[in-house]
Amino acid sequence: MNRIYLDNASTTPINSEVLSEMLPYFSSIYGNPNSLHSFGRDAKAGVDKARDRIANAIGCQPNEIFFTSGATEANNWALRGIAYANAHKGKHIITSKIEHPSILETCKQLEKEGFKVTYLDVDKFGFVRLDKLLHYISSDTILISIMTANNEIGTIQNIQAISNIAKEKNVLFHTDATQAIGAVRLNVKDMDIDLMSFSSHKINGPKGVGALYVKKGVMIDKIIFGGEQESGLRAGTLNTPAIVGFGKAVELATRDIIANAKKVSSLRNYFIRELENKIEMVYLNGHSIQRLPNNASISFGMVDGESIMFLLDMEGIAVSTGSACSSGSTKPSYVLEAIGLPADLVQGTVRFSLSKSTTKEEIDFVVEKLEEIVKRLRKISPITKAQVGKIKGDM
Ligand code: PMP
Repeated sequence: MNRIYLDNASTTPINSEVLSEMLPYFSSIYGNPNSLHSFGRDAKAGVDKARDRIANAIGCQPNEIFFTSGATEANNWALRGIAYANAHKGKHIITSKIEHPSILETCKQLEKEGFKVTYLDVDKFGFVRLDKLLHYISSDTILISIMTANNEIGTIQNIQAISNIAKEKNVLFHTDATQAIGAVRLNVKDMDIDLMSFSSHKINGPKGVGALYVKKGVMIDKIIFGGEQESGLRAGTLNTPAIVGFGKAVELATRDIIANAKKVSSLRNYFIRELENKIEMVYLNGHSIQRLPNNASISFGMVDGESIMFLLDMEGIAVSTGSACSSGSTKPSYVLEAIGLPADLVQGTVRFSLSKSTTKEEIDFVVEKLEEIVKRLRKISPITKAQVGKIKGDM
């Protein structure tokens, strides 16, 4: 069976150029980049090159990039590191209700430790309301953390406007750009961003590596203690092959960003149009234009998204219901709830995430299979057509 992968928001395959740059670092260039001898220096040269490439891609200095085990660690570090280092100034953090669990769970932990967190509502598209953000900033506020783009519904926030507010109010601004890197142009200097998290495996790099950008001069505590790696701020022997691959992946993903985004979004738009034309009661979540080019979060009336996912899987098609981090749990998606989607449509939602190698033939095949599956499931649906979208809170 020819398999079709439409779950690129969850993870992506390694690009062949990325892999070939990584390979020598598993075997011949095996030194510890922190060792002072030639073996160490050879490995360090690979790490330095990756740091340069990433700094160049996001518009910062190489010494403002700190490697981590992924965006989860980078998000944990940004929040806790800033909270602890600035607790003498204030104990209030502002975030949104639709952040990734690595932000929300860290915030919950900080609340247990005596910090106060405001979780901003979002509108029906998933945008943070700027007037609400302004309203909640107080003299106690030390950090605003708002994701650049949402992993479930694809909405891209007005990051520049949020950053401007943070600057005006003298509050630090962190953004989780994990889904946005390679899809949205991000220049941390131009946009005056203080901290930014991102990850390698969403952009055809290896898993288990990411980074936190920390603007020079921003006071941040470490949360991982040990050796003096990463300027003494993040202990642990560097994962050299992964870092080398990450650097190459960032370079490739940001180099052709406009052309790739155009290509992927036009296929994604075709996919949405085809679904809307061929299947009744199909609704797009998030904003129709200000969204990630590869994301189509679709609610199907009168069907269960998980059943669609399993039936597509039997056809070799990979999609996801909520995000990979929360699917597997039977809880409805908090992101879809936050945008006010009625409960039956929350249950009927599937996230399709394309890549630049997705083809029109694949999309046509997926649409054909979806037509059959949705028709079949609707025949046995306990929800009637008249009830679709009207039973909020009942499920
Ligand atoms: N933030 C967002 C928005 C994500 O989509 C993800 C990955 N699902 C993460 C953080 C966590 O990234 P990682 O897998 O590198 O820990």
